[in-house]
Amino acid sequence: MELNEEQQLNQIKTNLETVKKRIAETCIKMGREPSSVRLLPVTKTVPAERLRIAHAAGCHEMGENKIQEAREKSEVLSDLNIKWSIIGHLQTNKARYLARFANEFQALDSLKLAGELDKRLQKEGRAIDVYVQVNSSGETSKFGLAPDDVRDFVMQLPNYSSLRIKGLMTLAIFSTEHDRVRACFVRMREIQAMLRQEAPAELLFDELSMGMSGDYELASEEGATVVRVGQAIFGKRPLPDSHYWPGVG
Ligand SMILES: *Cc1c(COP(=O)(O)O)cnc(C)c1O
Repeated sequence: MELNEEQQLNQIKTNLETVKKRIAETCIKMGREPSSVRLLPVTKTVPAERLRIAHAAGCHEMGENKIQEAREKSEVLSDLNIKWSIIGHLQTNKARYLARFANEFQALDSLKLAGELDKRLQKEGRAIDVYVQVNSSGETSKFGLAPDDVRDFVMQLPNYSSLRIKGLMTLAIFSTEHDRVRACFVRMREIQAMLRQEAPAELLFDELSMGMSGDYELASEEGATVVRVGQAIFGKRPLPDSHYWPGVG
């Protein structure tokens, strides 16, 4: 049965509260401040009309995996004050679209892209928050830098003044074995600690974006400062995950 608008609003509010409560409980258990974890709602495949309702329910930031979908929604919803975060791999030739409207990019994985994005942002007179994506699971299906390559990579980033480097992003292994998922998050924390010692001082690595609907509590236990949650807020997606991550799902 189709829910009417009010029912949809209440459903999204309830789901948001549940996720926030679980994050807060995890933080308290770990001796962390609940406000130290930012919940980024992930809105891919959710139609724009439903995002109006989500906005009314309190979602003022939205994470999208694909630039084309994000761009269309940002145009349709331009009357609302929404901060758009692009959390998926970006082809260099699409950097100009991102530079026009996104507030944040969480999937930086090449210097070529950094250069193009910086150039396009300069043209727009803008700067955005950026996270370097790391492939913490080593799966070939995942984007991101190999952990061993991160240090050399970030040494180049001060060259791109429109990219405000904030931290690291990862997708953990998709596994029902908690230990394997946790190992990815622990690895990220270790890379973060290394960068805080060794990266150029103007780059900040305060943020760790990790954890999704299935593992955001585990990620919060291991130091996530951003969790990217879609299905736990908006319900199960019609498209399989292989649409986003080749080789999965
Ligand atoms: C879709 C997506 C998420 C959220 O996944 P859910 O299972 O819906 O919580 C997080 N990160 C990225 C990069 C995504 O593409």
